[in-house]
Amino acid sequence: MEFVSLNKWIPYNEKPFVIAGPCSAETEDQVMETARLLSAIPHVKVFRAGIWKPRTRPGGFEGVGKVALGWLNRVKKETGLLTTVEVATPEHVELAVAAGIDILWIGARTVVNPFSVQELAEALTGIDIPVLIKNPVNPDLKLWIGAIERIMKSGHNRIAAIHRGFSQHEKLGFRYPPIWEIPIELMRLMPGLPLICDPSHIGGNASLIQSISQQALDLEMQGLMIETHTDPLNALTDSKQQVTPLHLQEILNNLIIRNPKGTYETERNLEALRRDIDNIDEQMIELLARRMEIAHEMGVFKHKNNITILQLRRWKELFSDRMVRGRDKGLSHQFLANLLRLVHEESIQIQTSVMKKEDNEINENN
Ligand code: PEP
Ligand code: MN
Repeated sequence: MEFVSLNKWIPYNEKPFVIAGPCSAETEDQVMETARLLSAIPHVKVFRAGIWKPRTRPGGFEGVGKVALGWLNRVKKETGLLTTVEVATPEHVELAVAAGIDILWIGARTVVNPFSVQELAEALTGIDIPVLIKNPVNPDLKLWIGAIERIMKSGHNRIAAIHRGFSQHEKLGFRYPPIWEIPIELMRLMPGLPLICDPSHIGGNASLIQSISQQALDLEMQGLMIETHTDPLNALTDSKQQVTPLHLQEILNNLIIRNPKGTYETERNLEALRRDIDNIDEQMIELLARRMEIAHEMGVFKHKNNITILQLRRWKELFSDRMVRGRDKGLSHQFLANLLRLVHEESIQIQTSVMKKEDNEINENN
């Protein structure tokens, strides 16, 4: 089954298309006022509002519930915007569909649980409605794909995936740091699947939305979901990351829309650069293979001479020496540290299997 292109179910002219609206629907006035202001922004095609809120800890505001479905209906009638809400249970699906909500979205905390996603898929069977599927809170691409497949199997092909960042120990200045390789790999594995970015939850702060949105567009994501509130400071949920409709307009005005493909001339220049990269990658692979052959030889040597695999002092010296060299060459600390650890890990792995093999041979001969 092929995915239906986004433009067929959310018609838009301005790039990127935007889903905007409050983290939570709070009052009818707040919803109507926000929607009215948003409907004046040409990029905004869909109005979002959480009405059943998954909160990390109990006791917080858990959403106004189904009463807001009527408010969203008014939004649709009075502004012409499409509407979307988060659904987490079959009952939510039933209520939202009965109320005429246009698009459903499945939240990050639901996507982690295949039982819940399966229940939603069953509730959605036979119902013709588009579904947006956020990434799970943990950086697990298979879980995300699994959720998309379950919804597809229930007969849906108007689907889009939303990258909203991942819960991580090291936050690096974000609320849910993005791991761009994951949605990029998703695009590769599921061609035609539209990708949307939610910079509000990634950043957790209104000041980060501009740069995250730009990055998402530069990675060919088609849309943005941005939390918008008429009075962010007093929002009942996610107050730090919400922007006013005016601020949203400013963010959208500042976005630079680049071409997915260049002209004949720029493509030719790019081709030359790509050839250089291909050559370097080839050399890098040769060198890595050579390095691992040496690791293998070292394993044999260490086994013969009864020496342990890991020599901590050598690893520490090697690590600091390479880090200094890399820094002098302008490589980022994090990148080089990750690369060195990966190479070292593989080298240990190779030596470990050599040791095991040699030990086994000795045991067999005894
Ligand atoms: C939301 O969009 O308000 C929300 C709860 O998102 P997530 O599932 O990404 O945490
Ligand atoms: Mn939110």
